[in-house]
Amino acid sequence: MNAAAYADRPAVRRHEPMARHTSWRVGGPADVYCEPHDLPELQAFLAELPADVPLLWIGLGSNLLVRDGGFRGAVVCLGKGFAQIETLPDGGLRAGAGLPCARLAQHCGRAGLAGGEFLAGIPGTVGGALAMNAGAHGGETWQRVTAVQTIDRAGTLHRRLPEAYRIAYRSVSGPPGEGFVAAEFAFEAAPVEQVQAAIHALLRRRAATQPLRLANAGSVFRNPPGDFAARLIEAAGLKGLTCGRAQVSELHANFIVNLGGACAADIETLIDTVQARVEAASGVHLEPEVRRVGEAS
Ligand SMILES: Cc1cc2nc3c(=O)[nH]c(=O)nc-3n(C[C@H](O)[C@H](O)[C@H](O)COP(=O)(O)OP(=O)(O)OC[C@H]3O[C@@H](n4cnc5c(N)ncnc54)[C@H](O)[C@@H]3O)c2cc1C
Repeated sequence: MNAAAYADRPAVRRHEPMARHTSWRVGGPADVYCEPHDLPELQAFLAELPADVPLLWIGLGSNLLVRDGGFRGAVVCLGKGFAQIETLPDGGLRAGAGLPCARLAQHCGRAGLAGGEFLAGIPGTVGGALAMNAGAHGGETWQRVTAVQTIDRAGTLHRRLPEAYRIAYRSVSGPPGEGFVAAEFAFEAAPVEQVQAAIHALLRRRAATQPLRLANAGSVFRNPPGDFAARLIEAAGLKGLTCGRAQVSELHANFIVNLGGACAADIETLIDTVQARVEAASGVHLEPEVRRVGEAS
């Protein structure tokens, strides 16, 4: 990309440190970083982006390990204009993909809508939850999705139904090259107190069992069929294992925390070490849930 491109676009920054945009607080610079305020700004950016430049969509970076060398390409993070919620004529909700999941859950709590309580504990955006099929406590994002709005590389919008996607545990694949812009959800009417009590109980449970005071990216590995990654990691004696300033959490074995000053290489080495040692101890090959992108420094 030539240096003059995007010079007049306030939403676009060059050499943006991705450590500012990931919950692990690590990651080198993205060549180009765009935080479009609204749809026209996003469409203008995509129209100018050469087709061969790699494009990475991000939300709150809560499931993302960006390596220390950064990302050679363009990163799009949806801004405030993509964080709206509206009630649809059929009682469903339409949420922008930049909306934090917690705010969607709070809205459901106030409106007396049940089924989205689990979203309260997921510190990502609606876009990230759609891409990951984020879930917890028996709920999964796509169980509630009735339609999504996506945008392709040319800036064209599409309305797509769930049938257009292959959806599994923490895995979603659909039309390639599209980012999520919004989603429509169906929830069930329920007493406000009941929904809010469920959300509070869930948040209390998380605060007691997750190392929320240290930078982390939630569960590092997917749970293998019929078992729990955290149980296998703990059984392999890996709680507290440290690499540089990254550590397997003492509180929750499937979390890796940044003790302060970790780099992405510390975290990645720890991920690979845990994977190898669990396999040696139990024969189970753990699959990472966190997405790794970018280049080593
Ligand atoms: C403390 C903590 C607890 C967590 N608990 C849970 C949990 O209980 N359950 C769970 O499922 N996850 C959990 N997570 C992981 C994480 O919050 C989820 O995966 C979340 O859905 C990621 O959303 P995000 O906006 O941060 O996405 P990011 O981390 O920014 O991106 C994740 C993936 O989504 C893609 N993506 C993001 N936005 C878009 C978009 N608009 N269009 C297309 N693709 C997009 C990215 O390219 C990337 O592949 C937890 C994380 C933390 C830190």
